[in-house]
Amino acid sequence: MIQVKNPVRSKDRFLVFGSPAIEEEDIEAVVDTMRSGWLGTGPKTKQFEEDFKAYKGANAALALNSCTAALHLSLIAAGLKPGDEVITSPLTFCATVNTIIHAGATPIMADIDPLTMNIDPAEVEKKITERTRAIMPIHLAGRACDMDAIGALAKKHNLIVIEDCAHAIETEYKGQKAGTIGDFGCFSFYVTKNVITGEGGMVLIKDASHAAHVKVLSLHGMDKDAWKRFGNEGYKHYQVVEAGFKYNMMDLQAAIGVQQLKRVEPYWKRREQIWKRYNEAFADLPIGIPAPVEADTRHAYHLYTIMVDHDRAGISRDNFLNAMTAQNVGAGVHYLSVPEHPFYQDKYGWDPEDYPHALRVGRETVSLPLSAKLTDEDVEDVISAVKVVLSA
Ligand SMILES: *Cc1c(COP(=O)(O)O)cnc(C)c1O
Repeated sequence: MIQVKNPVRSKDRFLVFGSPAIEEEDIEAVVDTMRSGWLGTGPKTKQFEEDFKAYKGANAALALNSCTAALHLSLIAAGLKPGDEVITSPLTFCATVNTIIHAGATPIMADIDPLTMNIDPAEVEKKITERTRAIMPIHLAGRACDMDAIGALAKKHNLIVIEDCAHAIETEYKGQKAGTIGDFGCFSFYVTKNVITGEGGMVLIKDASHAAHVKVLSLHGMDKDAWKRFGNEGYKHYQVVEAGFKYNMMDLQAAIGVQQLKRVEPYWKRREQIWKRYNEAFADLPIGIPAPVEADTRHAYHLYTIMVDHDRAGISRDNFLNAMTAQNVGAGVHYLSVPEHPFYQDKYGWDPEDYPHALRVGRETVSLPLSAKLTDEDVEDVISAVKVVLSA
């Protein structure tokens, strides 16, 4: 642990990376739910689903206990069989890849575009075989993937598209909202995301039969609305129609989500302001900053990532992270490329060098604080810390 004499922030004001904005309404909503006595899946969950569905203009929405659950159920509903292949990005959170494995299929990596850091459709095309069944694009940091190119490949090869929208609540692509473009869209309300419920997720589903299937899978494989069995309409028998999962959201979580979602747009505007301030402050520093937002898309501004290349910046990425911590400013890494992890190397024989763009980004990227909760002073402290660390 490095100690510096006069850090930009004092230790007792350590700026926690990804700390969420929580308002009094959120707290009251949880207390109300506690007082109602209905803590599990119920009316608040239903309301959160309705509100989210309306915000995204989706056909169907189902609230779950995580985005990981949403990805897993989408893959199962897609009807994968052992030996089937699902193509995804090597620059994502491990959950994206693990759910493919848990659904019984084989994950296949297609390298990213070095500028957008999203999966490169040309690389996807090279990886398509007769066993390919689905593509899982991740709108990394909130930047929309090239959904026209991905959609064209899916149509040509009859593939399911599952969008990992964990960063992409507010993302839009050519007038379409992220998560409604593919067959499934999976969202996260984990504490560091743009809308939070503590733990939580949502899946948007285009096709009505997929939606019905995912709903049954999400609650033990019990048939319709089994959660109502303890309500005031009299006891309802349920039938188990397949071996499902325990992935439902609780009203305690949904109560927070309903309040948070009301503030999604003002929070987005605040993060856009911070984003622009960072762009301006870092323009002349020896680091990479995010590429401009593509025309006819909306960026969700979930992560502000800088690239720290040792040769150019005069400091390694990992030393930069430690030096930021010593300035009492938290930072993140999204992500070390998936093929760098030993499990995938052992199981699939992946070599990180085969995905050179994801490898490089994974080794240079640093995510700076970008929560709507940040004050102007916090933002200036982050900027000062970056400058101090780079000039040391
Ligand atoms: C956070 C995240 C997930 C997992 O979300 P959970 O709600 O924590 O399960 C999946 N994919 C990406 C890209 C993420 O950032």
